[in-house]
Parts: sequence; C-alpha cells; structure tokens
Amino acid sequence: MGNILNVLITGGAGFVGSHLVERFISKKYNVTVIDNLLTGSKKNLEPFLENENFTFIDFDVQNHIEISQDLDYVLHLASAASPKAYTQHPINTLKAGSIGTINTLGLAKAKSCKYLLTSTSEVYGDPQISPQPETYWGNVNPNGVRSMYDEAKRFAEAAVASYNRIYNLDTRIVRLFNTYGPKMKINDGRVVTNFISQAIKGEDITIYGNGNQTRSFCFIDDTVLGIIKAMESDSSEVFNIGNPNEITILQLAEKVISLTNSKSAIKFVKLPEDDPMQRKPDITKANKKLNWFPEVSLEDGLLKTIEWVENSID
Ligand code: UDP
Repeated sequence: MGNILNVLITGGAGFVGSHLVERFISKKYNVTVIDNLLTGSKKNLEPFLENENFTFIDFDVQNHIEISQDLDYVLHLASAASPKAYTQHPINTLKAGSIGTINTLGLAKAKSCKYLLTSTSEVYGDPQISPQPETYWGNVNPNGVRSMYDEAKRFAEAAVASYNRIYNLDTRIVRLFNTYGPKMKINDGRVVTNFISQAIKGEDITIYGNGNQTRSFCFIDDTVLGIIKAMESDSSEVFNIGNPNEITILQLAEKVISLTNSKSAIKFVKLPEDDPMQRKPDITKANKKLNWFPEVSLEDGLLKTIEWVENSID
C-alpha cells in the first residue's frame, strides 16, 4: 500500500461524511463519494468538486455498486441519521443499513480493502446502564418509532461481524454518539441546531419532555479524528466514539441561551415516543486502543457551531 490511498465514502455529502472528505483530501488521498443526496447536500462538497483527487457519484447504496479502481478504504456512512430524517424516510433508512451495508461489504471484499461502518449509540436504545460500554447489548424497541434506524444499524453491525468472521474482511465499527458542529443540517430537527436557531431568532426554545433526559455531545473535529484513527487501526473491533461529558437537555438549553445572549424563553412540549432517557459513552476502549480522546469543550464547540449557524441563516 503506497502513501496515496484510494478511499470510498458512502454518505460523503452528509454532515460527518463531508468532514471526512475534507480530512482525506488534505492528506492528498483519492476520494470517491457515493451519495443519493436524500439527506446530504452537494453544497457540503463544493470545495472539492473541482479537485482532481475527488469524484462524486450520485447513487443509492441499495443498488449493486461497481467501482473500477482499486480501493484501500471503504467507509459506509450512508443513512438518514436524525430522528426527523429517518422518520420521513423509514424504508430508505432500512435499506441503507441492510442492503447498503451488504453491498458496501461486498465491494470491500472484492477490493480486499479495509472497511469501516459508522454505527450509532442508538444500538443501545434506552440504556439501562450508564455509561454504555461496547459490551452492552442494549434495550431497543424492535418495532418502535425509532426502530427503522436502530434495527437497521444493528443489522448492519451483524453483517459487518459476519463478513469479518467468514471472509476475514478487515473491518471495524464505530458507534457515534451525538455529534455536532458546522455543516450540520439546520432544519434537521436535532437538538443542537434547533436550540441555536431558536435562540438566535428569539423564538421559544422547545424542550421535549421535562428536559431531564441526558445526551453527551461530541464536537465534529473530535468525532472525525476518532473515525480516522479507527480506520487506520488494525483492530477489527467496535469502538464507541463520543464525548463522555453528559448533560441534561435543560442544561443544554440554558447554555445555548447564555452563549447567544438570547432573550428566548424555554417552552416544554411533548416528549416523543421512545426518546432515550440517558446516553453517555464509555470510551475506555477507544482511549486505550486508538489513543483517542475528545478535546473540544462543549462551550468551544457550541461557539463554533453558533457562528456557523448565524452565517448560514442570514
Ligand atoms: N430535543 C428537544 N428539543 C428539540 C429537539 C430535541 O428537547 O427541539 C431533545 C430530544 O427529545 C432528545 C434530545 O433532545 O431527548 C436529542 O435529540 P436529537 O433529535 O438531537 O437526537 P437523539 O439523541 O434523540 O437521536
């Protein structure tokens, strides 16, 4: 394997994917993105479209994938990923996680290359232990309102594990916990972008439920570094990638109000069904085996995200 690697990223037009493209392009790698632009945006790829090391293919991973060139890495990110997006596109979400995972695994097998799946903290469902280590099997409603995403990713993990066991494919799985930062889709319904845009516009901050549910937010630069370290590593394992700094949604609302100097009031509305009560990654394994640890504080990350949202909505 030479220094210039050939990398294929499905879902590369999305929030996380386009940040990965940026990192790989800056390493002078050849990057091919496959994305059907269902939730991703070509705008995220604008800086690379004219780059000779970059190729964009408008394609849905639920179809058989043919790539003529050799590949060193396949990273399968393609999927709707926010509760709003996967609720709007349930069948495509199921297909991206199931058929799309099989197709990308088949491609990696044909190219004898390394493979990475981005899974999710949603595989833990509404966890009964905290923090959640990779060894926890989860508490998931198999046919609930989030099941199209949760179960598709659980199937995807099973598919990756099988290709690893049966074909000895060089695979790894990263379970991403809530990540945020510039290039997030602003109207995607996620809590960070909702709160920031509401605060900037002086609208009520909508807290679902009583706001005592917790999440642990990881800034995108940390997330991307974790993914790259897992990709480069020789450990065919599962890694939680997230920031263990856990806060309640009410605390997040207060922080966003204070960082934006907003006059917005807090409004409590109905909690969606199956909304997990807590989420906090145990990242001991990624720390030990990948030498990875998130470094950006919530405050710094939110300030960068606020600046980006401000520039994007006016
Ligand atoms: N949430 C909220 N107000 C919003 C959007 C989300 O209180 O305007 C809550 C939501 O109920 C959940 C948490 O924030 O408990 C994170 O929601 P998000 O959709 O960002 O992602 P999730 O972690 O649930 O997949």
